[in-house]
Amino acid sequence: MKNRQEVTRHIPERTCVICRKKTTKRELVRLVCTPAGVEIDITGKKPGRGAYLCKGLVCWETAFKNERLERALRTSIKQGNRDQLMTYARELDKEGAS
Ligand SMILES: [Zn+2]
Repeated sequence: MKNRQEVTRHIPERTCVICRKKTTKRELVRLVCTPAGVEIDITGKKPGRGAYLCKGLVCWETAFKNERLERALRTSIKQGNRDQLMTYARELDKEGAS
């Protein structure tokens, strides 16, 4: 069954700040810079400077290793905050693998 309307419907794409892969919002995780630190934005609607990362653990590791995420968000990320985000990334990775 093919719906003709599906072909013309525009699906907004976002780009992972690390690997530059373009994909739908659903496949990426939005990180947002808040006064309390960098948070995972599950709804995609939080105000603030945001950056998208894919769900693969590799991109998260690279993001922190090279401070690329910090540059993308124009903020510095504290160690505790990094740990939080990495924990989240590992959970995501586990889900993806199963
Ligand atoms: Zn990526």
